[in-house]
Amino acid sequence: MLKEGFWDEMDSWPRARLDRYWTRRIRRVLDVAYNSLPFYQRRFQQVGFSPSQFRSLDDLRRLPVTERGELLNALKQAGRYPIGIERGHEEVVLCVSSGTEGDVIFLSFPRQWADMERQATLRAHWWAGLRPGGPILISAPAWHIYALGQNLLARALPAQAVIVWGTYSPEFASHVLQAIRAFSPQFLGLFLPFVFSLVAEARRRGLGPSQAFQGVKNLMVVGAPITPALRRHLQELTGVERVVEAAGSSEGLLAVECEVGQGLHLVPEKSVVEVLDAATYDPIPAGQQGAVVITNTWPWGPLYIRYATGDLGVMYPGECPCGRPSPRIKVMGRRSHLLRVGQRSFLPYDVQQAMEEAVGLVGATFAVLWEGLAKGCLHLLVQEEGIDARAVRSRLKKALEDYLDVPVKVEWAPSLPMRWKGVPPVIRREEMGGR
Ligand SMILES: [Zn+2]
Repeated sequence: MLKEGFWDEMDSWPRARLDRYWTRRIRRVLDVAYNSLPFYQRRFQQVGFSPSQFRSLDDLRRLPVTERGELLNALKQAGRYPIGIERGHEEVVLCVSSGTEGDVIFLSFPRQWADMERQATLRAHWWAGLRPGGPILISAPAWHIYALGQNLLARALPAQAVIVWGTYSPEFASHVLQAIRAFSPQFLGLFLPFVFSLVAEARRRGLGPSQAFQGVKNLMVVGAPITPALRRHLQELTGVERVVEAAGSSEGLLAVECEVGQGLHLVPEKSVVEVLDAATYDPIPAGQQGAVVITNTWPWGPLYIRYATGDLGVMYPGECPCGRPSPRIKVMGRRSHLLRVGQRSFLPYDVQQAMEEAVGLVGATFAVLWEGLAKGCLHLLVQEEGIDARAVRSRLKKALEDYLDVPVKVEWAPSLPMRWKGVPPVIRREEMGGR
């Protein structure tokens, strides 16, 4: 008998069994990499490593960490996409990895990959509260790997699939809103900023925010970490009982919160994750923030082996009270989004948390002015729409200065420029448009 919320027997394995499963799978990945992928063959040889030496997960430390920049350089030098981290296949699904930092990497997934991906996607959504019965809303059929995941899900479950045309760009909020109201899904997976686009669209139509989420019992948000206060705010705003955070990337990270809501469990079919010292890639204790490094546990398509995703995150110490053996992580933000103010540095998540804890301002949309950072000041541009600015206007600057211990300037803006991944964390004055 499976425990409520568990997807299969694997969810109740002891941790040692999961480690053995991962060790076996990674050993196979390393064999494939060593024997047929030139990029890795060279790198393994450089450090004198052969897959036969891989006996436990700790042996991963013998392998070099690869950064995104190294892959991009290899692409540029080769002048073509296959750079020796992928196996050749006749028929593949092409997927784009995050291009938010300027350069895009394409990933090609062959048929065999789809079975694993389906299994992983089902498990992830089950953990997040999806159950058969209601319709499945494919809310962004063009939103990189999550579009593929939603598709596999709809085909795997005996459920009505509703495909909404668009992406998570705010202009498509009307499509998604209409679909929610017409088909009443009980489960929704959305890009976090898009929740606010839906609320804004509901208000434009004269509806209350909770009417936009009528009938939804589980809301899974991806794309940005949520603070405890933001989770409560989202629950109150949308009227949805359970708000679950998930994190994923085309390269193979997939992690989802369980019912306990303290950290995101890694989905074992996809990748093993290490959080390492961001400067040296040495091991660090659980609970400390560092670079997120993934190793794929399936041997098809492009293989990411000890790949630094460009994210910063923390690993949770100990085992989760829910009983799932899979380690828990929280991705705190992109490394490139670190805001340096004098000697200190923050992620947008830290600023968000500071606003909540210092003055109780929750769910504010904000960005940091680039020109401010250049002068050693955290110059915040806070969007007025949807928040009661009067209540915090006079206190915010001082409270944030006390909390963050850096000079702060607060500027209220009627609106902030949107990109396809939401409001960018840092904006230059010229991007503010006519101001
Ligand atoms: Zn758990």
